[in-house]
Formats: sequence, structure tokens, C-alpha cells
Amino acid sequence: EAKSKGRNRWCFFSFDLHQKSVARQNLTNDLRQALLNKEFFLQYQPIVDLKTNRLVKFEALIRWQHPTRGLVPPDAFIPVAEESGLISDIGDFVFKQSLLQLAKWRSQFSVDLMMSINISPYQLAAPDLHMVGWFDFLHKQDLPRGSVSLEITENILMHHTEIVSEQLLAFRDHGINVALDDFGTGYSALSYLNRLDIDYIKIDRSFVKDLADGAMEKDLCEAIISMAHKLNLKVIAEGIETTEQANILQSFGCDLGQGYLFAKPLSVEDAEALLASQSINQ
Ligand code: C2E
Ligand code: MG
Ligand code: MG
Ligand code: MG
Repeated sequence: EAKSKGRNRWCFFSFDLHQKSVARQNLTNDLRQALLNKEFFLQYQPIVDLKTNRLVKFEALIRWQHPTRGLVPPDAFIPVAEESGLISDIGDFVFKQSLLQLAKWRSQFSVDLMMSINISPYQLAAPDLHMVGWFDFLHKQDLPRGSVSLEITENILMHHTEIVSEQLLAFRDHGINVALDDFGTGYSALSYLNRLDIDYIKIDRSFVKDLADGAMEKDLCEAIISMAHKLNLKVIAEGIETTEQANILQSFGCDLGQGYLFAKPLSVEDAEALLASQSINQ
């Protein structure tokens, strides 16, 4: 009885696993095709100064327009890209495309704009051939130091500490800043904040979401912000959706904010309309 049950269950899981691996294989093939067909593009979400509500930087966010699947969100394909190694080509596209866009906008709108780029932990832990050319590419764009930052998640800091900190050091040597993304959701010890040269922390959306709920949530955010400031880090709050959240964060001295309250991730055209409207006010 138990044995046959066990066998059935094994069959069930095995079938399920098979399905999953077929689906993953299909997705991998599609991703490879997407690179050839240039189906990836970037959207740009504004990050604003919480004191003035002015746009100071964009976060580049990748999008995939698949011919039949439609618009595929990054959470649905980045993990597969990481497993298959295709993240190397995708990451290269993101890095170069966002730097070109930044350089173009800075000169076109003569603004002191910055750009934030998400980099996969896989690329930091195992630097690939593309990355060798990144610094040359960066310097060709003639961007001021500090105008580009890389967003990394804290989980990567747990493992590979040596190689990652070496990588980050090289980026910082070339004037690229580092932001710790989704801060507060990972397992990393606070000591990493001191040991690694980090410029920004991005308070995770889940903390911002609960901000108006009670004193405990407020205290937590306030503590994170003041700790960050003591360590000379700038703080970006992500996922701000209400003015109440923005006001609370501002009262705690949070430097920058990002979220649907200000703007969703924008197409190039919409981002340019925003830049044009801001430069009139300058
Ligand atoms: P992330 O870096 O933490 O990016 C923030 C995510 O929150 C984005 O989702 C953004 O659209 C969303 N968001 C922003 N404001 C709000 C808000 O007010 N409310 C809510 N509910 N959501 C908000 P998206 O674009 O789907 O990206 C998801 C994740 O995929 C990113 O999280 C990042 O980890 C990854 N990702 C995105 N683009 C890239 C990329 O170019 N390279 C790599 N390696 N990862 C990327
Ligand atoms: Mg990010
Ligand atoms: Mg984030
Ligand atoms: Mg996130």
C-alpha cells in the first residue's frame, strides 16, 4: 500500500519536474531567440528627491516583448536567464543601452541626470567576457563620476564575498556607485554595509507598504534611515504609492524616493516628455 502510493507520488513529481524542465527549456530557447531578434527593451522609472519631488535619476528596468507570450516581466525570465548563462548577453545589453540613453539625455536636456542599473549577482560572482569591455564603454560616454550606479541585492553578499567586493571595488574605481537593492529582505549582516563600499541603500517596498500601519513600522524605517546616514549612505525608498508614505519618509530624512506615486516605469518617449517638462522649470 505504502509502496504503491510512494511510486505514484514519485511518478507525479517526476512528471511535474519533466513538465517544468520542458517549460524552462522552451523559455531558454525563446530567450536566445529574443536576443537575436532584439525583443528586449528598457523602461525608465524616475527616482525623485523627496524634498523637492524633482527627478534626479532613472532606474533602467528590462522588458521583453515576446511575439506570442506578450510582454514578459523580468521576474519571469531573469532567473531562467541566470541559470542558462544568457544573463551575460542580457546584462551586457542593459548596461550599454542604459549608458547610451543616459549620455544622450544628459546632453539633449542639459540635466544633471543619473542612471541606476540592476546587475545580476551571477555576473558579479562570475565576471564574464562582456564585462571586460564595460569600463572602456563607460569612459567613451564621458559621464561624470557618480552618475551611474549598479543595484545589487544583498543575498549575493552572503556568498562570494571576496570576488564580489573585488568587483565592486573595480566599479567604484571607475566612478560607478553601488546601491544595495531590496534592503531588509535578505539575510546579509549589517556589517556588510561597512565592509563593502556602498553608496545607497534602497529600502524594500515591503517596508514602505506597511509604513502607515503603525508605530512599529514607522520606527523600523526611521531606524534604517538614521543608521544609513550614520554610515554616510544615501537612502532611496522604493514602492512609494501614497502621499502619506512619501510624507512620513521625508520627515525621517529619506533622501530619494521611487514608486507609482511619482511615476511608473516609462517608455523612452514618456521619459523624454518628463525631462522636457522639468527642464522648462530649471
Ligand atoms: P527591483 O530592482 O527591486 O525593481 C523595482 C520593481 O518594483 C520594478 O518591477 C518596478 O516596476 C516595481 N515598482 C516600482 N514602483 C512600484 C510601486 O510603487 N508599486 C509596486 N507595486 N511596484 C513598483 P519590475 O520592473 O517588474 O522588475 C522586477 C525585478 O526584476 C527588479 O526588482 C529587478 O530585481 C529585476 N530586474 C529588472 N530589470 C532588470 C535588469 O535589467 N537586469 C537584471 N539583472 N534584473 C532586472
Ligand atoms: Mg532595482
Ligand atoms: Mg528594488
Ligand atoms: Mg525587487
